[in-house]
Amino acid sequence: MSVIKENTLIEEVIARVEQKDPGQPEFHQAVREILRSLEPTVQKHPEFVKAKIYDRIVEPDRVIMFRVPWVDDHGEVQINRGYRVQFNNAIGPYKGGLRFHPSVYLGIIKFLGFEQIFKNALTTLPMGGAKGGSDFDPKGKSDGEVMHFCQAFMRELYRHIGPDTDVPAGDIGVGGREIGYMYGYYKKIVNEHTCVLTGKGLDYGGSLIRPEATGYGSVYFAEEMIKTRGLSMTGKIAAVSGSGNVAQYTIEKLNQLGAMAITVSDSDGTVVDTDGIDSEKLAYIMDLKNFRRGRIQEYVNQYRSTYYPGKSVWDVIRDHNLKVDLAFPSATQNEIDETHALAMARNGCYLVSEGANMPSTLEAINIYHDHNMLFGPAKAANAGGVATSGLEMSQNSMRLSWSREEVDDRLHGIMRSIHNTCLQTAEAYGHKGDYLVGANIAGFLKVANSMVAYGIV
Ligand code: NAP
Repeated sequence: MSVIKENTLIEEVIARVEQKDPGQPEFHQAVREILRSLEPTVQKHPEFVKAKIYDRIVEPDRVIMFRVPWVDDHGEVQINRGYRVQFNNAIGPYKGGLRFHPSVYLGIIKFLGFEQIFKNALTTLPMGGAKGGSDFDPKGKSDGEVMHFCQAFMRELYRHIGPDTDVPAGDIGVGGREIGYMYGYYKKIVNEHTCVLTGKGLDYGGSLIRPEATGYGSVYFAEEMIKTRGLSMTGKIAAVSGSGNVAQYTIEKLNQLGAMAITVSDSDGTVVDTDGIDSEKLAYIMDLKNFRRGRIQEYVNQYRSTYYPGKSVWDVIRDHNLKVDLAFPSATQNEIDETHALAMARNGCYLVSEGANMPSTLEAINIYHDHNMLFGPAKAANAGGVATSGLEMSQNSMRLSWSREEVDDRLHGIMRSIHNTCLQTAEAYGHKGDYLVGANIAGFLKVANSMVAYGIV
């Protein structure tokens, strides 16, 4: 962060984390980003220093790691590793998604769980921070194999979760199908129909708008940011990365607001469609990705567009000078580095709203600041997903279902309120207009105040 000065106490905590947890670079990155932006709180809150909140908050309440054995379609025994990091439940039951991806290891789950503490606090709903997952790769697996894996995963996870303890949800590689298999198995072995997972199907306790919530929320956040410059979303050209849950509903909401997405990607490459990805093309992508489980490359056989194999959206902007106004990174962590950020600024991009978690490196974030770009950090811009999960929990507790409009209105209201909280907090702590500082400090204050109130526990 270019604007924050170094603070000895904070730097000492960071150094201890790096020394104590070597080999977890993503966790270190998240700790550096968050703790350095909390520097303005150190002087103002001696009670946090006395209670060693900065040291305590980087240490998870609990780390659970377990063996997940299952049998594939050929009768072979497969063994994966499962994780649940219950990071902090100061303000509510643990809450955070499950990620199934071959890159998953403890450092990734800890970075995601740490971020989740502050994001959940920002939503104003009572939810603590957690994250979990496995190095299982759903790609290329049959439905039967995915089901067997999900059941084996839940066979251990069930003893650590509960509606008032820990309520997981989806993330990369975990969508409606996986949540269905896990919830069905939980219900079978515990013999309770209770809100222990969110992102459930509508027929068995899910909430309308939950699938849309992260993508919609990220566009709502962008809309609030762009308004501060007296502009609107109408007619704006957007780059969206990924083609999963978040990317799909980001594109849908952009279309609804009169903007136009011209890119979509997966881990194999990027499609650029300068005519814009309209609702018909989006329906094709949803069918391709959610049901046929194909690769994004197939899009070019259907619509006039260009495919760039092996390149991310941000590589294409950098290497081919693609011009966009807005950027919605919606795939994975660290997809945008310094070279990408510089190319985005050079090609006219002035707004970044992070749908994915930590998609920008710290160096990229510095470039956004240096170029006066509007930057909505993940824990604010993508908080709509977990906020709507919170609304699913409320509806389950009350045993009723709200209409689509009601949930969408609440989501929209929460995103506006997160936006305002970020701006107000940033200004109160001397960093006017800095959404990252505002989001981190606002989320932190609520959790830190609660931790102080509890004493040393
Ligand atoms: P998803 O439905 O599984 O889609 C993920 C997309 O990103 C896919 O297109 C995938 O391509 C691509 N991707 C994943 N890993 C990649 C990598 N290493 N390199 C390049 N592309 C990669 O997942 P999602 O739910 O949309 O999540 C996307 C991001 O949003 C993640 O950072 C997640 O943590 C964050 N997020 C999600 C939610 C939510 O409610 N779902 C909420 C908050 C934040 P392949 O198909 O080729 O793997």
